[in-house]
Amino acid sequence: MVKPHILALPFPAQGHVIPLMELSERLVNQGFKVTFVNTDYNHKRVMNAMSETSVGDDRIRLVSLPDGLGPWEDRNDVAKLMEACRVVMSKKLEELITKINEVEGDKITCLIADGSFDWPMEVAERMKIRRVIFWPASTALRAMTLSVPKLIENGVIDNNGVPQRSQIIELTPKMPTMRTENLVWVCIGDATTQRTLFQAICRNNKAVKLADWILCNSANDLEPSAFTLAPGSVPIGPMLASNRLGNSAGNFWAEDTACLKWLDQQPPCSVIYIAFGSFTVFDQTQFHELALGLELSKRPFLWVVREDIGDYGTTHAYPEGFLERIGCRGRIVSWAPQQKVLGHPSVACFLSHCGWNSTIEGVINGLPFLCWPYFADQFLNESYICDVWKVGLGFSKKESGIIEKGEIKNKVDQLLGDEMFRERALKLKELARNSVMEGGQSSVVFENFVKWVKS
Ligand code: UDP
Repeated sequence: MVKPHILALPFPAQGHVIPLMELSERLVNQGFKVTFVNTDYNHKRVMNAMSETSVGDDRIRLVSLPDGLGPWEDRNDVAKLMEACRVVMSKKLEELITKINEVEGDKITCLIADGSFDWPMEVAERMKIRRVIFWPASTALRAMTLSVPKLIENGVIDNNGVPQRSQIIELTPKMPTMRTENLVWVCIGDATTQRTLFQAICRNNKAVKLADWILCNSANDLEPSAFTLAPGSVPIGPMLASNRLGNSAGNFWAEDTACLKWLDQQPPCSVIYIAFGSFTVFDQTQFHELALGLELSKRPFLWVVREDIGDYGTTHAYPEGFLERIGCRGRIVSWAPQQKVLGHPSVACFLSHCGWNSTIEGVINGLPFLCWPYFADQFLNESYICDVWKVGLGFSKKESGIIEKGEIKNKVDQLLGDEMFRERALKLKELARNSVMEGGQSSVVFENFVKWVKS
């Protein structure tokens, strides 16, 4: 029997590629053929990381398309990347589907595309294939973006998405709150970037109407109010609770798995794990304060310091004598096997930038959080963690913008000294895990989705 063939298209960023690869692995397990489309730029990074670590699932076919930017252009400029993809990648996607259908003869049944893009649904409609949106962020973010017309109507923002005054938005009770200056299209880049992103969000709100399914990497029990405000969105997550094969081909950097052995040697529930995802950069003063705060805490720590964490380079980045003083109490890696780290019994808490993947990876492992959000949806996720689920603490927002070493130490002590954080985190873990167990709500949705694609 011919296997139904799915084309998976992530937005070209680490936090989007990893969860769609995770979904692709689950679909392959269900008997689908999956072709995974990265940009040429990210494809090279993934292949490099795979060649260093020999991981990867050869049941998934990896292909690539140009993103429309020159090799010298900054791919961290999300608005520019988004525009380039819209102009160039959309045409290339159509050509790719035609080639697979007509030349290779292994017809594409269904396109699953990241909800940050609007154009793939139009391509799929034109090519008469099934249309599915994958939403890798919180459903609260979907609800927030869907509420744009209402925010304009109520005078919270103008027609270009610019807030009319500083205020706190809470769409309904039990939803995370959001300051207007932290709206996802406001807390990023310059005015042009903000406008481009806002326009993209408005286009996406129209494109979702073309989708047959909108799959969210979340659970109804984690975000009940958000699912009510985002009709048509259904939960299939959090996906990482299922038996992970651990060989995902989605990493842009090779994982340093030796840190797992170091974790084995630490006492249970003792280690602070610190990671800021794939984008966040630090100025050197803040980087030093963090290092000194960890030193002051006197606890073991595992810290992910990406090579591109700041323009000062990683070799001389640390305060003088820091590395010698902490010795083997601290371990620093450039990219961790994060999901395995978070599931390790030695880890006590997660100091995180609150990207959605990191958030649900921490939740599914029952960890309390220290929240250090930077931009995009990270403030919304911080509000989930601190205000709604109450499984973590934030830092105070100083005028200088710097989080100081003393506060870092105090917040670690406060979080780990109060058993209630751990208890609530363990309860949340149960809720999240139950949703992806057999018969759980996310599992049932996923089964129905699989039946639909096969029908
Ligand atoms: N990640 C990882 N190793 C690291 C740091 C991060 O594997 O050292 C993974 C993490 O598990 C998550 C993703 O990278 O799946 C980051 O996504 P997230 O949404 O948390 O943040 P973003 O990078 O999009 O800001």
